[in-house]
Amino acid sequence: MKPSKKSAARIRYRGRFAPSPTGELHFGSLVAATGSFLQARASGGQWLIRIEDLDPPREVPGAADRQLETLAEFGLMSDLPVQRQSLFRARHDQALERLLQAGQAFPCACTRKDLPPDGIYPGTCRSGIAAGKTARSIRFRVTSERIRFSDALLGPQEQTPALQCGDFVIRRADGLVAYQLAVVVDDAAAGITQVVRGADLLDSTARQIMLAQALSLAAPEYLHLPLVVDQAGRKLSKSERDDPVRRYPPAAALRLALRALGHEPPPGIGSVEGQLAWATMSWNLAAVPHGPVSIDVHGSADRDYTPEGNADQSI
Ligand code: GLU
Repeated sequence: MKPSKKSAARIRYRGRFAPSPTGELHFGSLVAATGSFLQARASGGQWLIRIEDLDPPREVPGAADRQLETLAEFGLMSDLPVQRQSLFRARHDQALERLLQAGQAFPCACTRKDLPPDGIYPGTCRSGIAAGKTARSIRFRVTSERIRFSDALLGPQEQTPALQCGDFVIRRADGLVAYQLAVVVDDAAAGITQVVRGADLLDSTARQIMLAQALSLAAPEYLHLPLVVDQAGRKLSKSERDDPVRRYPPAAALRLALRALGHEPPPGIGSVEGQLAWATMSWNLAAVPHGPVSIDVHGSADRDYTPEGNADQSI
């Protein structure tokens, strides 16, 4: 669904929120959703919700609908029809085929236990699969290039995929397209101009920029919002059903999320609509914390600048 030249020219800003339907929305997702929504609104742009249903084994039945309902209770509604990435299989396969044809991807026979403990792919099947072995996954052939980009919140970044992970999986052994490829293809197809998401995905960004380059797609800008951690400094996780926001009255939960983003509305503004309107008017990236924030549901959101907080790469 490539935007036509005409509509692409009209899009000044298009952002998105792409939850995986693996459980209830927790405060971390609410902060990411609210931050990306406000950034889109404050930029006079559009905001898309895209359900990242790429991993059926991890999907919780009904979770996507519950996430959409929860987002709607916060006034966070997609300006465009909600997308489901599982429906875009054909274009994911096309991208895979194109990379294989160009020699920028290759079949790999390795299992997890064939990899060294640091998880960095040693290049085993780069120049072909050893006799007697069968292809399992498809990997993207990374170059040794150091990727530089400027995060709209965190500033200049440098990452070298060859040193971070080496050639990485773009089609899994179970035949499913990997997140890294699908996100690049689907962001480009939807005309996303800026990806605003949690800082746990900062480490994936160079891989995604490299993939976009290999597919001749324009890479969006990136903005990584602070990660929400629990009082022990642990990243919240949907699959562990941490702090589902549905347990809290929406106006109170939104206030906590906005506080975590450095934008707590004055006490007189109580409603969800009022808070969102205030935050849209007041949105200022300089007020958004750079490091992980912990949300205390009993009332406080504290900044907590532990750099280790960003280490978890799981998505
Ligand atoms: N699906 C990921 C999540 O739930 C977000 C992926 C992205 O924004 O690129 O955290």
